[in-house]
Amino acid sequence: MIYIDFDKNILDKYHKIIKCWFLRKFAGGKTYKNGYNCGNDKCEICPKSIHKVSNIPEAAVDFFKNNIDTLIIGNPSELTKLYKEYIKLGIDDSDGIISDFFVITGYTNWFQDEFAKDFLSDLNINTCIYCNRNYTLDILYSHTRAELDHWFPKDKFPILALSLYNFIPSCHSCNHIKGNGDKTLKKMLKNENLSKKQIQQWWENVLETMNHPHDKNENENFTFSYEFDESLNSLSVKFRINPISKKVSTTLEFNKVLEIYNSHANFELKDLYDLRKKYSDTFLNIIESNFDGIMKKEEAYRMIFGIEIKEEDYHKRPFSKFKHDIIEELKRTC
Ligand SMILES: [Zn+2]
Ligand SMILES: [Zn+2]
Repeated sequence: MIYIDFDKNILDKYHKIIKCWFLRKFAGGKTYKNGYNCGNDKCEICPKSIHKVSNIPEAAVDFFKNNIDTLIIGNPSELTKLYKEYIKLGIDDSDGIISDFFVITGYTNWFQDEFAKDFLSDLNINTCIYCNRNYTLDILYSHTRAELDHWFPKDKFPILALSLYNFIPSCHSCNHIKGNGDKTLKKMLKNENLSKKQIQQWWENVLETMNHPHDKNENENFTFSYEFDESLNSLSVKFRINPISKKVSTTLEFNKVLEIYNSHANFELKDLYDLRKKYSDTFLNIIESNFDGIMKKEEAYRMIFGIEIKEEDYHKRPFSKFKHDIIEELKRTC
């Protein structure tokens, strides 16, 4: 998983937009002249006509208004705390009105439609945070459109559907894997009969179990490695987790990173391995970067392997972490 470094300007920009939307939804009014005005002259929401949401219990509206900033820009642990406080209020949502307000009216019909594309390009993250295997750039031209995954799933934490720290740029395939999280969880915990309530509880304490893409320190304590099976003449991808961390291994397992990369073992991994075997000296020359005065090491890697080698740049090109880790290991072995 790749670390997301939130730029304060981006956080501010979307904080204002989402806050205005919420407050106008709660206050109503056709235009800023007779409805809620957030006070920002350049506001994109104020001048638009917005229907007031009228069917949400007052106690819920009060809670959201009182916690509006945390709701939008709270970090993952603040969001968990907020969610637990909300649940304690015991507001009945058996008809799903509150959930629908956040998930459908707010996220799907409004934010996703009008702002998801801008948000993704503002973030300037080019590849999927979970796998670093697919570009998330081709929003206009490709079927593999970038998606925003909700790290705290929408069906379990509907009120976090418009929380900025919950928006994770991801590829379709990883978003799909996350969508099947219940199945993965049952398998991971070796309990096919895990109840809905137990799954919800696991998620409410998930920050003790899994890393969030905004936790800088814990994210990259693993490296990709490989194993060559001589009898089968086959290569497979492995992890090294150092220092050993249950949290890192759970995160990798939940996001199916090993499965994803093993599906590439015969391509990307084999190419690097063969290159090392066949062109031993050249390979070492390339990676040791004997290019003095010709090009920088980063440029050589970009040109030859198509990857970035600085951790903070991994998100710019697919397979950067994977190939870089494997190349480092090949350099030491053979
Ligand atoms: Zn406004
Ligand atoms: Zn992905």
